[in-house]
Amino acid sequence: GRVIGILGGGQLGRMLSVAASRLGYRCHIYDPGVAPPAGQVAEYVTTAPWDDAAALTEFAASVDVITFEFENIPTATLVLLEALRPIRPGRRALAVSQDRLHEKEFLQTLGLETAPFALVDSAEALERAVAQIGTPAILKTRRMGYDGKGQARIDGAADIQPAWDAMQGAPAILEGFVTFSLEISVIAARGLSGEVAAFDPGENLHKSGILHETRVPARVSARQRSDAVLVAAKVLNALDYLGVLGVEMFVTPQGLIVNEIAPRVHNSGHWTQNGCSVDQFEQHIRAVVGLPLGDGGRYADVVMENLIGDDLDRLPDLLRAKDTAVHLYGKPEARAGRKMGHVNRIIR
Ligand code: ATP
Ligand code: MG
Ligand code: MG
Repeated sequence: GRVIGILGGGQLGRMLSVAASRLGYRCHIYDPGVAPPAGQVAEYVTTAPWDDAAALTEFAASVDVITFEFENIPTATLVLLEALRPIRPGRRALAVSQDRLHEKEFLQTLGLETAPFALVDSAEALERAVAQIGTPAILKTRRMGYDGKGQARIDGAADIQPAWDAMQGAPAILEGFVTFSLEISVIAARGLSGEVAAFDPGENLHKSGILHETRVPARVSARQRSDAVLVAAKVLNALDYLGVLGVEMFVTPQGLIVNEIAPRVHNSGHWTQNGCSVDQFEQHIRAVVGLPLGDGGRYADVVMENLIGDDLDRLPDLLRAKDTAVHLYGKPEARAGRKMGHVNRIIR
């Protein structure tokens, strides 16, 4: 097959399309938005709602395989599409990662550590959950949260009602606050023959719930590094996964605690564009079309910094900076909190 269908047309879809094109594939983006950033570089674009059966059917007919850059695709959309073309990775990976409750339960069945958690579907349930888990804790909507949205911190009894109100009635989970020394993520891939390749774990720094910076190597021991990679491999194998996966973890004195998994290329893997000969985007394309994977090897230390909102004002300086690769997403206007691009600084 030579045409790859991508559900979602944000910056991840854009960078997947560029990588696909380097390998001689063409991409067809499907996105409900008006002018998706990926649409500027992909060969074909359909802008239609997720429930437009005719548009979805036509999209599927035009592609050989379907993947996605966005995990919150409605189930009905996936059911329609998967009857027509293979979707990689498959629906189980999506189902597990779309819902924080299922995600935590899945991770625990694999024997992996998570933050303590409790299901919260009412203000009373939140009272009970806080009594059980203690404070500090974080209330998170089960579904649709990203960049720290849909979360409320609870430090004491006075925060309970406001936190529940902030969920606006959406089912949620309460998570015990993990005291971590640092946050890392592993970006890893699994191919058609079952082979797994992982990139070196990156160390992540968040600002206001949004990823600010990823640096490799992470400041972890050799033991922690291999533990982290083994966690990712375990998840990939359990899901019979095809493609790239991101696993976010907290490093604690008691070991690694898994925060969440993302069944797609991941912001904390953008450093691979300038630190590896096969980056996470090409790795994902290789996996979904059934090509052999790159080995994940890294030839440089890198600091990736996200350019968010008016960070773009620094562009002239960034373009002049030494050993710095600038990646921009072509989004029309810089809004507060919107990811506009990123830079990869090579550390010599
Ligand atoms: P993403 O954009 O990565 O999908 P998200 O909205 O799904 O983000 P999380 O990754 O759950 O949010 O949380 C965002 C950040 O908040 C984490 O990277 C971490 O810094 C902090 N955080 C979340 N949960 C906990 C926890 N249980 N204990 C301590 N810190 C936490
Ligand atoms: Mg998340
Ligand atoms: Mg996260």
